[in-house]
Amino acid sequence: MKKIPDLFKQKDRTYSFELFPPKTDVGYQNLLKTISALALLKPDFFTCTYGAGGGNRDRTFDIVQHIQTNHHFPTVAHLTCVLHTKDEIKNILTNIQHRGIVNVLALRGDPPQTHPDWKPGAENFHYSSELCAFIRKHFGQNFGIGVAGFPEGHLLCPDRDLDAKYLKLKMESGADFIITQLFFNNQDYFDYVKRLRVLGVTQRVIPGILPITDYPALLRFTKMCGATVTPEVKEIFEPIQDDKEKTLQTGIDFAIRQCRTLLAGGAPGLHFYTLNKTHPVDVILKEARC
Ligand SMILES: Cc1cc2nc3c(=O)[nH]c(=O)nc-3n(C[C@H](O)[C@H](O)[C@H](O)COP(=O)(O)OP(=O)(O)OC[C@H]3O[C@@H](n4cnc5c(N)ncnc54)[C@H](O)[C@@H]3O)c2cc1C
Repeated sequence: MKKIPDLFKQKDRTYSFELFPPKTDVGYQNLLKTISALALLKPDFFTCTYGAGGGNRDRTFDIVQHIQTNHHFPTVAHLTCVLHTKDEIKNILTNIQHRGIVNVLALRGDPPQTHPDWKPGAENFHYSSELCAFIRKHFGQNFGIGVAGFPEGHLLCPDRDLDAKYLKLKMESGADFIITQLFFNNQDYFDYVKRLRVLGVTQRVIPGILPITDYPALLRFTKMCGATVTPEVKEIFEPIQDDKEKTLQTGIDFAIRQCRTLLAGGAPGLHFYTLNKTHPVDVILKEARC
């Protein structure tokens, strides 16, 4: 299966879909159907998230393997290092390599609610840059490595310049590409890319897009991940939040505008947070792709 950096050699732009592993067997079976529908939209690659401390972490790799084997799309397995020792991470990487997985999104992750006070020790990784370096040290170029980027700075590091320097460290530690946190002000993305280029980061920064389909859920989610709900988003979506149909249609229009502006401004593709749904990403991708 192709590594993402090799895919980049053939494509100036990539369009990708992010999935998450469902908690139940029924959810898992439903996701397989959704994957078949998403595959018809011909993305360039998929990614699947990894739950820190969850019981369904192997499901991430099952899903990645399923997509690669049955639908033949390159797929990136997210991998968080919180709660794992370095030895465990080495075993996981060895196992997934045997399963034919060649792309990972190297993340630190956050301590889950079950272990809120967890702190890394000598046997753990402190930051994702250490995970990147570890993968390169022990697995050479066998994996394509992506990392997370934060156009508005990270929740724990709102100093955007400092956070960009930490991002640079991830790239110097072996990462190949960046997928960003969701954002709604495109200028934040463009400024972020500019900041990184000034620092000498040359790799692709793929913008992460979350279509707005449920405003109260968006408020809850952005509080956790630190993305700003801009005055524009508030003004548009607050008054219609009780009208699900109107929110959906308005969210589609907003995302199409956002995607078109990003691509026109030089973004090297789009990464969609699908929330395991085909719609509305199907419509947005059709309208925005070029
Ligand atoms: C595209 C994307 C996908 C994601 N997928 C998942 C997923 O699958 N599962 C999941 O649980 N979470 C996921 N997350 C969330 C992510 O795990 C959290 O945002 C987490 O808090 C940070 O992870 P990181 O890899 O960016 O950490 P790091 O890069 O380690 O950064 C963590 C914090 O430490 C700071 N920092 C970095 N290096 C240093 C240093 N050397 N010294 C001091 N400070 C430093 C950074 O500025 C930041 O504040 C994802 C996020 C994004 C954007």
